[in-house]
Amino acid sequence: MRLFFCPTSQEPNLPPGRNQETAKEMMSEAIQNLIRLSELDLQLQGFRKKLAGIPPALETAGKTLAAEEKILADLRNASANLANSIRDKDATSKVALDTIEKFKAHLKVVHNQKEYAAAQKQLDSARMINEQMQNEMIEARMRQEELEPKLKTAEERVAREQESFRQEETVLKAEQGELEEKVRILDGERQTRIAQVEPRILSIYTRLVKGGRLPAMVPVISGVCQGCSIATPPQDYNRMIADPDGTHTCPHCGRLTYYQAPPPQEETPKKAAAKKGVKKAVAKKGAAEQTEDSPEGEKPNEDEDSFQTGELPRTEESPA
Ligand SMILES: [Zn+2]
Repeated sequence: MRLFFCPTSQEPNLPPGRNQETAKEMMSEAIQNLIRLSELDLQLQGFRKKLAGIPPALETAGKTLAAEEKILADLRNASANLANSIRDKDATSKVALDTIEKFKAHLKVVHNQKEYAAAQKQLDSARMINEQMQNEMIEARMRQEELEPKLKTAEERVAREQESFRQEETVLKAEQGELEEKVRILDGERQTRIAQVEPRILSIYTRLVKGGRLPAMVPVISGVCQGCSIATPPQDYNRMIADPDGTHTCPHCGRLTYYQAPPPQEETPKKAAAKKGVKKAVAKKGAAEQTEDSPEGEKPNEDEDSFQTGELPRTEESPA
């Protein structure tokens, strides 16, 4: 399907062998296709943005759990170190106790004062070591007891965070699956629709999408581009009115545009008064464009919408 433009004619150039009605219908379909394509790309952009946010959200959720798990691991390490230390001290204490028993027995069989003094020294040393070990074990056990409630709290927090993470992960994974499915479906429709776009329009459209200018196809209502909210130059707007089934471009934001009749209730007394000034100027042209079968309120109303210009404006699109 191709779109034909003529910058100086009120009607689009017709492909050979087509009557005017067929061509108009073709162009309407082309515009509808572009409108839908533009909607699809906007939706796809939103869905892909949401999809891109899921891995970081999972990572964030995982970070809280990881932090709690680290606290618990540190506490468990500290507790294990204390247990090891107690075990070592207990072993040292046992050796000291054996030494004490040994030298107690030895004292009974010493032969002289010198041997007695030496044995007594060993005995005192062993008693000192044992006492030190016992004291250190008491201290270590106290620290172990202090750790117990902290360990219990940390374990509860980890369990809670694990549950919370699992729930969040389930929700996020489900959301990811739904989004991927939506993207798959919309992308399928996009491929079908994009294949129907005339190459020259497609190159403009692709450039807009790549530049993130979405929606890339917007209506011009009451002379205002709905993409950038800037008034279209009168000559361009009149050109749109003259060619309501054509695809145009906004000179400000570069978006592809199409004519859309303003809703009747949009009319205000002030606006109506302002428009009366241009009414006469475009009356001739407007009369020529009135069609008998245009439904009320939907057909382009030149009296109300156009601005006074000379002849129809140039277009930035070259004729096909
Ligand atoms: Zn614009």
